[in-house]
Amino acid sequence: NQEILLVSRPKGLPHEDNFSILDTSIPTIKEGEVLVRSLYVSVDPYMRGRMSDKKSYVPPYALHEVIIGGVVGEVIETKADHLNVGDVVVGYLGWRKYNAVEANQVTKIDPTLAPISTALGVLGMPGLTAYFGLLDIGQPKQGETVVISGAAGAVGMIVGQIAKIKGCRVVGIAGSDTKVDYLIKELGFDVAINYKTTENMKKALAEACPNGIDVYFDNVGGDISDAVLSLINKGARIPLCGQISLYNLEKADIGPRAQTALLINSALMKGFIVGDYSQRFNEGLLQLSQWVKEGKIKYAENIVEGFENIPKAFLGLFKGENLGKQLVKVAEW
Ligand code: NDP
Repeated sequence: NQEILLVSRPKGLPHEDNFSILDTSIPTIKEGEVLVRSLYVSVDPYMRGRMSDKKSYVPPYALHEVIIGGVVGEVIETKADHLNVGDVVVGYLGWRKYNAVEANQVTKIDPTLAPISTALGVLGMPGLTAYFGLLDIGQPKQGETVVISGAAGAVGMIVGQIAKIKGCRVVGIAGSDTKVDYLIKELGFDVAINYKTTENMKKALAEACPNGIDVYFDNVGGDISDAVLSLINKGARIPLCGQISLYNLEKADIGPRAQTALLINSALMKGFIVGDYSQRFNEGLLQLSQWVKEGKIKYAENIVEGFENIPKAFLGLFKGENLGKQLVKVAEW
C-alpha cells in the first residue's frame, strides 16, 4: 500500500515538497468495514484551505497524516452486510491505494448510469455545488445575464450550462484560449473571456453584457470579481462559491470593495458551502443525471495517471492546467 501525507503547511503556492509518499501495508478490515481499492482520486481547490491551520468550515489536515479527499474505488473485501466485493463506491477517503473504511462512510454508485468518475464531478460534489449555488442563490430567470468566473472548471462549466437551460445569456471567464473556445463551441456559452490576455476586463465585460449583469457566480474573487461587480444590475444575485485567486496569498488582499455596488443595486451576495444542501442532494443528483442523459449538460475531465502524481495534479489547479474536473486515475477498473 502507499499513502500521501501532508508534511509541511504550504506558504503561498503549494509545492511538491509539502507532500510525501509513504509505503505501508494493506490494512485488515474489522466487522462492519470494507477494503476499498482506489480507482479515481479527486483533487479540489478547497483542499488548499485545509492545508493551512486557519479556521474554516472543515478542520485543517494534521501534519504527517494522510490527506483525505473524494475517492471512487472498488470494494475488494467486505465485512459489511450491504456492500459486496465488486461494488463501486464513492466517499471521503485517504489519499491511499487501499483504504479500510466503515461501510456507512461510503456510498455505492451505479456504474451502469454514468462513468464512475462522474461521481467526483458532474454527478458529485462539484455538480451539486453548481446546481444549488446557481439555482438557490442565483435564481436565474429567462433572459437575464449570468457571468461565471472559473468558468471552465469542474463547477463553473456546469453552472454555465444550467444557466443556458434556464434561458439566460451566459458569459464565462477563464484563463486560456482553449478554455474560452471550449465554452463557446462545445458548451454554448454566448461569450467567453480570457482574463489572462484581456487588458481591460471591465470594458470586455461591459461589451459582453450589454444589459448588465443579473447573476455573478464567483469562483475566484480578487480583481476579476471587482470588474464584474462594478457592472451588476439592480437586484443582482451573487452566489459566492470560491475565491481561488486568494487561496495562496500570504497577506490579505485589498481591492475596490464590493459593498457599495451591493448597496446601490440592492444586490444579494451570499456565501455557501455545498454541504448546506445535503438534505437535497438526491434532488440535485436526479436532475443533473437527467440533464446529462438528455445531452443538455456536457462535462469534461482532465485525467492524470498514477498515484504518485496526485500532488502534481493538485498543484495544477492553481496553474489552470485543468479543463473541467481534475482527477487522478490510480488503477484500472
Ligand atoms: P476548477 O476545476 O475550477 O479548478 C480551478 C481553476 O481555477 C483552474 O483551472 C484555473 O482556471 C482557476 N484559477 C486558478 N488560479 C486562479 C487565479 N489566481 N485567478 C483566477 N482563476 C484561477 O475547481 P472547482 O470547480 O473544483 O472549484 C472552483 C471554485 O469553487 C474554487 O474556488 C473552489 O474552492 C470553489 N468550490 C466551492 C464549493 C463550496 O461548497 N462553496 C465546493 C466546490 C468548489 P483558469 O485557467 O481559468 O485560471
